[in-house]
This record gives sequence, structure tokens and C-alpha cells, in this order.
Amino acid sequence: MESHSRDAGWIEVICGPMFSGKTEELIRRLRRAVIARQAVQVFKPAIDKRYHDTRVTSHSAQSVEAVAVADVEALKRAVGAGTRVVGIDEAQFFGAGLVEAVQSLADNGTRVVIAGLDQDYRGQPFDPMPALMAVAEQVTKCLAVCAQCGALGSRSFRLSGGDGRVQVGAADSYEARCRQCFHQGMLEASRGRVA
Ligand code: ADP
Ligand code: MG
Ligand code: ZN
Repeated sequence: MESHSRDAGWIEVICGPMFSGKTEELIRRLRRAVIARQAVQVFKPAIDKRYHDTRVTSHSAQSVEAVAVADVEALKRAVGAGTRVVGIDEAQFFGAGLVEAVQSLADNGTRVVIAGLDQDYRGQPFDPMPALMAVAEQVTKCLAVCAQCGALGSRSFRLSGGDGRVQVGAADSYEARCRQCFHQGMLEASRGRVA
């Protein structure tokens, strides 16, 4: 998307399950913007404290500096006047208000690159990602490797923990699965709960 006209704003969405390389791809695009000498700011929800508070980090240990913000309002306040590119990781945790916020940034000439989970651990669309995908100029869907069978994995399977939609974790509590292995796991979990 580097071929867009210099002053035009737009929205890119990078989505997929856990371990699919969303954060790696976000970091790659932001590093290229830095190489192009554009002013870049990166944000993540304060809820995600898995690694480092002031960085966005991938499962392959790549990272960029980032600001952890409590909510969309805090994100809007933190965007500097000279910022050309805004990166947002774990966008699914920001809620519906994120859509209007990034629309307004793009309308005002900012390139916004958003990474987030497109489905929750039940395989349901994870708001506000569907709406972000609809208004974005470009959508990239990443796929992981299914931890069970090695096929392409499109879903995040929760290995342990409760029923809450939001449960931040990594390899200890989730694994990537293909459609088939995901359904198999859900079936086994529901049988386990009944027994
Ligand atoms: P995401 O942000 O989508 O969770 P990351 O960018 O943090 O993904 O990490 C992607 C990296 O995770 C891969 O390049 C690979 O090194 C590692 N990885 C670990 N498990 C898997 C898996 N099941 N499928 C694909 N990559 C995996
Ligand atoms: Mg990530
Ligand atoms: Zn599988």
C-alpha cells in the first residue's frame, strides 16, 4: 500500500487467528514507514500485558516501541499532530468506538494499520474487526499452522481457562487450529463439560 498518494489517508486491516503472524506483519509495515521517514506511532490496549508495557511484541520476539492506552479516547488524545502512520495491535480489545476513531484519522490524511483477531475462541466474529474490515481500503487475512494436523489454521482454540471472551494469553492457553480440528476440540470440550 506504499503506492498511495502522499497525503491520502487510508485504513489497512491485518486479521487472522493467534500465531498467524499479524503482529509480525504489522511490525514489517511500520518499519518500512520508518524507512520512508514518516512519523509513526504504535498503540496497543493496556489490557495486553503479556510481554512489555511499552512495546508491541510478536510470538517470534520481534518488537517495536508502542504506547499502551486504556481505551479509544486515550488513543485519540495520544495521536500527535505530525503523525503520518498509526499502528494498532490487538484491535479487537478496543470496542466499537475504534471504527469511528480510525475513520476520522484516515479522513484527515493518516495511514492507519490495524492488527487484530477476526474471531474469538468460539469462532465468532470478534467486534469491532468485522466493521473495520468493511471500511478498510485493504484487508490481509493471515493463517497460522494448525497445532493438531499441520494444515493452515484459521481459528484460535482455547486450551484452558473460563468462558469469558477476553482472556489474554499465549502458547499456554491457546493454539491455532484448522476448521476441522477446531470443531473436533469444541465437541470434545462440550462432552467434557457434560460428563
Ligand atoms: P499473531 O500476532 O498473529 O498472534 P505473531 O506475529 O505474534 O502472530 O507470531 C507469528 C509467529 O509465531 C510465527 O512466525 C512463528 O514463528 C510463531 N508460531 C508459533 N506457533 C505457530 C503456529 N501454530 N502457526 C504459525 N506460526 C507459529
Ligand atoms: Mg499479535
Ligand atoms: Zn487441523
